[in-house]
Amino acid sequence: MEENLTKLPDVLLPWFDEAKRDLPWRQDREPYHIWLSEIMLQQTRVEAVKGYYARFLAELPTVQALARCDDDKLHKLWEGLGYYSRVRNLKKAAQVIVNEHSGIFPKEYDQILALPGIGDYTAGAICSIAFDQKKAAVDGNVLRVYARLMDDATPIDQPAFKAQVRSQLEEIYPDRAGDFTQALMELGATLCGPNWAPKCDSCPCHSFCKAFAAKTAENLPVKTPKKQKRQEDRTVFILECDGCFALTKRPDTGLLASLWQFPDTPGKLELPAALQMAESWGLQIKDVRRQLEKKHIFTHSVWNLRGFFMEVKIKCDKFIWFSADKIDANAALPTAYRQFWEALKHD
Ligand code: SF4
Repeated sequence: MEENLTKLPDVLLPWFDEAKRDLPWRQDREPYHIWLSEIMLQQTRVEAVKGYYARFLAELPTVQALARCDDDKLHKLWEGLGYYSRVRNLKKAAQVIVNEHSGIFPKEYDQILALPGIGDYTAGAICSIAFDQKKAAVDGNVLRVYARLMDDATPIDQPAFKAQVRSQLEEIYPDRAGDFTQALMELGATLCGPNWAPKCDSCPCHSFCKAFAAKTAENLPVKTPKKQKRQEDRTVFILECDGCFALTKRPDTGLLASLWQFPDTPGKLELPAALQMAESWGLQIKDVRRQLEKKHIFTHSVWNLRGFFMEVKIKCDKFIWFSADKIDANAALPTAYRQFWEALKHD
């Protein structure tokens, strides 16, 4: 064990006691709350999560309420957070907890890891924060802090590196395991961050941080270059008839499964082709109000979107027609489509 790493708990815990941010999910150690916050915080900023977290718990205060929540309501509570498989897995895991654990959140690491949607990071976070078990939660923040503390230029996305970080950290975990996990996360979020120069002068670890000593912190961590994302063009139709808008439900599996969307078609159509497409759906176009270009970035692909706002004479049966209020209240529209809806509302 490297000597500088063994100093971490004694230095980080007092710093965390002083510097920790007051966050809604730090008010208690309820495993449901820790779990929900960790899932929401994946890929999403803390400030954005706060409102979602409060609304979700106000609607679904217990694992039992989550287990029996209908999918449309669940998607609506998640609308705008993206990566909807996260919320579907939350519900599936809640059902497992109700059916196989008598509604009580399991405490064993392996039982938690076996729940749908829970990987080693989330299992480690729940075990340590909710139950003070000496289990590390190694995410991008922690990998970055470790790479800098050790001045280690191994690409942090290599699974072997992650396993090494986890096992080394677990050797130094103190009794205040939950606070130590959060202190590491806090350091990575507030001082040793990803997209700005690390604030080493304010860091409690700078006396033993190897990257600080070597002046290499800003070059770390190293990552394997990413593959280029697949580019896809799509044309989106925002069709209005008598104050109602055409929606269609996405298939039960695949990208954005079971969410609502505006009708669309592959490719970027020019206006004449878009009109032809709308007519092929049995629609008569009264007016074309606007054309708008948007983009949406997924994990593995980029959608380049062209939207047409069209007023139609008569509703057709091919789509479900929602009032604007009903779209806002009941229909979870993924961000790729919702950005057109927001643009229309702010016209
Ligand atoms: Fe990160 Fe700087 Fe602290 Fe090292 S001294 S852990 S590089 S903030």
